[in-house]
This record gives sequence, C-alpha cells and structure tokens, in this order.
Amino acid sequence: MKRSVKDLVNLKGKVILLRADFNVPLDGAGRIMDLNRVNESIPTIKYLIGQGAKVVILSHLGRPKGYEIRASLWQISLILMKRLNTKVYFSNKVIGPEVKERIRSMKNGDVLLLENVRFYEEETACDMKFAREIASYGDLYVNDAFGCSHRKHASTYGLARVLPNAVGLLVEKETMVLTDAMENPKRPFVAIIGGVKVPDKIKILKKFVDVADTILIGGAMAYTFMLAKGIAVGESLTYLDCVQVASDILQYAKDKGKKILLPIDHVIVHKNAQRQRKVVVDNMEEDMMGMDIGPKTIKMFGEEIARAGQIIWNGPMGLYEQDKFKEGTLKLAEVVANSKAYSIVGGGDSVSAIKLAKCEDKINFLSTGGGATLKFIEDGSLCCIDVIQEKIR
Ligand code: ADP
Ligand code: MG
Repeated sequence: MKRSVKDLVNLKGKVILLRADFNVPLDGAGRIMDLNRVNESIPTIKYLIGQGAKVVILSHLGRPKGYEIRASLWQISLILMKRLNTKVYFSNKVIGPEVKERIRSMKNGDVLLLENVRFYEEETACDMKFAREIASYGDLYVNDAFGCSHRKHASTYGLARVLPNAVGLLVEKETMVLTDAMENPKRPFVAIIGGVKVPDKIKILKKFVDVADTILIGGAMAYTFMLAKGIAVGESLTYLDCVQVASDILQYAKDKGKKILLPIDHVIVHKNAQRQRKVVVDNMEEDMMGMDIGPKTIKMFGEEIARAGQIIWNGPMGLYEQDKFKEGTLKLAEVVANSKAYSIVGGGDSVSAIKLAKCEDKINFLSTGGGATLKFIEDGSLCCIDVIQEKIR
C-alpha cells in the first residue's frame, strides 16, 4: 500500500507540491466541456487546506507547444475558487525567483495554482534539473493525478523521486476500485471494448481474456477483429498492423473457453454516397463503412450486460458524436446503468458518452483516467504511483 495524504502528520505550515489532473476536455473554442477531473481533485485539496498546509498545485492541460493561451490554467483557478469556497492564487510561471517568493509569502491554508507545467519542455522530458528546482520550493510531494500517472514527466515522476511523498485521495480511490475489480470481480464479469485507439488498447484484451468471462467488442475495434476472422468489413476503419494480434487473442480466448462477441449487424454509410442516410446491414459490402453497431448487436450485447455481475467499459460502440451513429453507444449505456452489476467506465470519450446518455449517476465508478486506466488494468500499477513511498506500518 502506498503512503496516503492521510498518513502524513504535522502538515501545518508545510508547503505541499500537489500534482493534480486538471487536463479537462476543451471544445474548438477552448471552452471547458466537462469538469469531472477538477471535481474529483477537490477532496485532497480540501483535506490539505484543513490540515493547515500551504497547497501549491501543478497540472498540465492539453498538449501545448510552448505558451498557448487556450491551455492556460487561469480559468481553472476561478473554478477551484468556487469549488473550494476560498481564494485561489494563480502564478503565470512554474519556476523562477517570483514563484519562490510567492510561495514563501503564503499563509497556512492558502492555495496557489501554478501555470500549465507543459508550457516548459522540461516537463515531458522529465528533466531532473527542472524537477529539483520545483522540488526546492516545497517540503512534500503529493501525486493525485491518476489520469497522468502512466507518463514519466517531471511533475508526475521527477518530483516524487526527490521529495518525501504520498498519493492523494483520488489516486487512492482509483487504485482501490480498479485493483478490486480485477482481483475480485463479481461474476459474470463482462468487459466492453470499443473506440478507435486500437493499437493502444488491443493489448489490454489479453488481460480481459485472463480475468473477464465475456468480452464484447464494438466501435472501430470490432473491424480489426472481424478481419482477423475473415469477415468482410468493406471500407471500415481497420488497423492492419493489429490483425495478427487480434487473431492471437481470438485463439487465446478459445483455448481458455472465454467468450468474445463481435457485432452481427452494423449501421453503415456508403463510402462515396452523396447523402449519408442511416442504413443497417448484416453483411458489409465493398464500399461500406461501419459507423455503429446495429439493433441485433445492441440486443445481443444488452443480454450479456443484463446478466453481468461486474462491467468494465472502455470505448464507444460507434461515432457517438454524430446523432446518426450514437444509438449503439447510448442504448448500451442505458443497459449498463440499469443493470444490477457493479459498473466501471473509463476513457475520455466513454465518459462523455455516458454523460450524453444522462446515465452518469447510475454508473458505480467513472474513472478519471483514459490511457492511465487501461494501463492500470493491464499492469495492476502505474510508474508514477510505483515511485511513491510505501505506507509505514
Ligand atoms: P476513449 O476516449 O473512451 O478511450 P477512444 O478515444 O478510443 O475512446 O475512441 C473514441 C472515438 O472512437 C470516438 O471519437 C468515436 O467517434 C470513434 N469511433 C467509434 N466507433 C468508430 C467506428 N466504427 N469508426 C470510426 N470511429 C469510431
Ligand atoms: Mg478518446
């Protein structure tokens, strides 16, 4: 067990460098689309304020190349102020004499948010000189950024190497829920995988074959598996590099007696059609592109979900961003929400889809991680959590 913030004593007057995950989704105009990650980071900040610590928060937002106004954390400081009901100071720099001075003048219980740490290229390079400079401003480091704990960056990994440290309450919760789900699943355990990041996600399927009872594959992921089975997929999005892995996974599941279900009908469009009407087919022809699972598949997947004891879902069943292709994802979201199973949903788009279906209150656990959640499920740990000290018993 990793040392938690709650294990830290005598926090009064201490400067805590807290790595939070304020990497919220932004729309084209730079407006925040969802505040789940900010909301989930509040308990740790509140706890530290309550202990009389001086809380200095670091985070990244987006993938800026140098300073970009839309990636500034300024707007997050305003939201934090409302959520915490206290003044939140903002520094437009992460390092330098002004920052040092600013921290030195903080009072117990004050909160200071530093600007987007990825405005500095040293961050993603995990530059240890940069990490040591930041570390010199604080007494302790707390990692509460679950969603970025799979990447060794200066503020997620470097700081933990040079300061006494602990994990925050969100990291603790995510770790506990996901570990328990993979080690003591309520059965039948149904895993639902979809979405588009096939090369990133395909490895996790092997883990699901090991642990889950049934695996439902939809979204673009399904077409690579259909190809592996020799089923026609027309012009649907496939990843040829992954066909062999898909084929190995199908064989592995067969050997282990685990069920992998693929879609049996599809909402398609014709590649060069002028008007993209919604068309449902069982078998795909050459010029067809699969955009969503069809009604028979929704029914078939729904029956598995309704029987489940536990569900883990990552990746939408279709292009849910478009009305014509959202039905598969939204209908399954409802079935998951209404099932008696313990349900976990992870992934940026997957969580957005659950919210679009207005089902978020009926899902047992919405993970704040995307890639991090999958990596955790695969490996049972993450590098930036591993580096944190163990609890002293
Ligand atoms: P998450 O963010 O939940 O991990 P991904 O990013 O892997 O999920 O996948 C989400 C994306 O996959 C969405 O933008 C969705 O439109 C896309 N998608 C789903 N099904 C298909 C499909 N059949 N063809 C193309 N894109 C798809
Ligand atoms: Mg995504």
